[in-house]
Amino acid sequence: MNYRAKLFGWRDPYDLSGTDALFVDAIRENVFFHYQHCLEYRKILTREGVSPEQLQGIDDLRQLPVLPTLYFKRHTLFSIPERRMVLRSTSSGTSGAMSRVGWEWQDCAHALRMVLRIVRRHGLLSLTPVNYLVLGYQPHRSNQTAISKTAFGFTFFAPGIRRAYALRYQGGGYILDLDGLKKALLRYSRQPFPVRTMGFPAYTYFFLRELQKEGVRLKLHPESRVCMGGGWKQFYAEKIEKEELYALAEEVLGIPESRCHEFFGAVEHPVLYADCRRHHFHIPIYARVMIRDVKTLQPLPMGETGLVNLLTPLVRGVPLTSVMTDDLGILHPASSCGCGCPSPWLEIIGRVGLRGITTCAAGAAELLRGAK
Ligand SMILES: [Zn+2]
Repeated sequence: MNYRAKLFGWRDPYDLSGTDALFVDAIRENVFFHYQHCLEYRKILTREGVSPEQLQGIDDLRQLPVLPTLYFKRHTLFSIPERRMVLRSTSSGTSGAMSRVGWEWQDCAHALRMVLRIVRRHGLLSLTPVNYLVLGYQPHRSNQTAISKTAFGFTFFAPGIRRAYALRYQGGGYILDLDGLKKALLRYSRQPFPVRTMGFPAYTYFFLRELQKEGVRLKLHPESRVCMGGGWKQFYAEKIEKEELYALAEEVLGIPESRCHEFFGAVEHPVLYADCRRHHFHIPIYARVMIRDVKTLQPLPMGETGLVNLLTPLVRGVPLTSVMTDDLGILHPASSCGCGCPSPWLEIIGRVGLRGITTCAAGAAELLRGAK
């Protein structure tokens, strides 16, 4: 039985309660695959005393060893031979170390089904041609970061007329071309087509602020959208309130808050989270989220702050089944949002401080001990 295919083919992407049993089956299937094909992962499972068969109910998932994202930055763990990898992605590597993830074709096919279902649900699939403004990297074969690939992927949800990039590839490297981007935007604004922007929230904010300072006030086509993804990363220090960003989009581009969208995902957890109309990230059926105590790593009840543990049976190329990010987050009950989505929502409240990172590193070292 291919439980993963059944889960990724499920009609309602937020039917968490309806898919709990199927999710556990898909996780068990995924763990079994990695157990068979990745020696390091098998050693970790064995050392933790976990066998795939014992994962029978949703509560059993807490027993699954949690690999910190830091672990993937320091080790390359593959469950399939490299010749079978049809896609590779890496994290942005802000600190120098990068996670490398290899994808087999079925991983890609399921990821595509997930993405299409999510973006359709959020009204982003359209047949109307649009002009794209990418506040990020122009794709190039030398750039394997997931963020550049994802941003490029976003420019296919509606047929693209033109694509302008903030970071253009030129003469063997990337150059920041904000001026070119502004000119493209002004050109687009005179055309009878919607505009879609895609990029980091911080880049989007800085770009809009620049335009505001220059007195730019546009009224873009009513079907235009502001799309943001990738998180705040190194811009935590300059994090601004989202309300301010939405107000800027309205003032400068004439795009209302209801047409501003944010997405969340990670190389080590390639599930697409899209915000609802209240800008909350509800958990899609392709993932489950546990919040764990920073010190004891025990799962915490809803509403409490801790380390974010993300689970998904999506990838067979690399054992990403259960990973721990170095973000702190809170899981909120579905009812506390008010948008009507039946799934709980995840609030990311920032990166763990130095002490927290040490905790993750210690966790990784702990895992390594038995795996060597
Ligand atoms: Zn909501």
